[in-house]
Amino acid sequence: MKLLNPRGNANLHTHTVYCDGKDTTEELVQRAMELGMAAIGFSGHEYSPNDTDFCMSKEGTRAYIDDILRLRETYKDRITIYLGIERDYFGEIDEFPYDYVIGSLHYVEKDGVLLTVDYTAEAMEEHVEKYFGGNYRAYVERYYEILGDIVEKTNATIVGHFDLITKFNEGNRYFDEEADWYKEAALTALRKAAASKPIFEINTGAMARGYRSRPYPADFLLEEIGRLECPVILSSDCHDKRDLKFEFCNIIENFA
Ligand SMILES: [Zn+2]
Ligand SMILES: [Zn+2]
Repeated sequence: MKLLNPRGNANLHTHTVYCDGKDTTEELVQRAMELGMAAIGFSGHEYSPNDTDFCMSKEGTRAYIDDILRLRETYKDRITIYLGIERDYFGEIDEFPYDYVIGSLHYVEKDGVLLTVDYTAEAMEEHVEKYFGGNYRAYVERYYEILGDIVEKTNATIVGHFDLITKFNEGNRYFDEEADWYKEAALTALRKAAASKPIFEINTGAMARGYRSRPYPADFLLEEIGRLECPVILSSDCHDKRDLKFEFCNIIENFA
């Protein structure tokens, strides 16, 4: 399988104060240089009218673009800076020619209502109870049904955190990730999403925040990504500069 950043010296999935990250763009660039990284890419959450708490505002997006283009010029002799965006399946697409797009699904849509997948375990429990009669299998299958179209819908260069639906499911707390139905739903979505050979992430974000002990995606999905000949890229979905290369060394060491 082809890992695009085999030495972990680049991270293209980072968030800043323009959306729900802790640091400024410049603080992250400084941190990347301290760590001796060759490149950093920014992927602020694109404006999404259905959930404005975590994404960039429209005006904020203009400032974000200008800011990163300025930093790229300032630091051009020291580090490569990419200007990307994390685009949600249900977000509003702006036409700016970003260097890359991370296409991500953060919601399950049911009867016209968008239910956040990765906010808190309590919120997920409420959603599944209220909209799926407590049926986690139906909830998860709906997630993967939507996810199959992620590349088509977002024009993604990189598919973000493929099995985000497992965020609160450490130890199979809500559903069994070893079950045939689960693997079937996830693999069907994966094969559909992989049709145009996008890049898939190995994403340590939920590890950095203490939710999971393993990165997204699960091993059986990673194996299928390899079999389908799609490249992978390591990222930390960084919301705090201390996590810019979270677990990169361990994952690279164990990468087959
Ligand atoms: Zn995301
Ligand atoms: Zn992200």
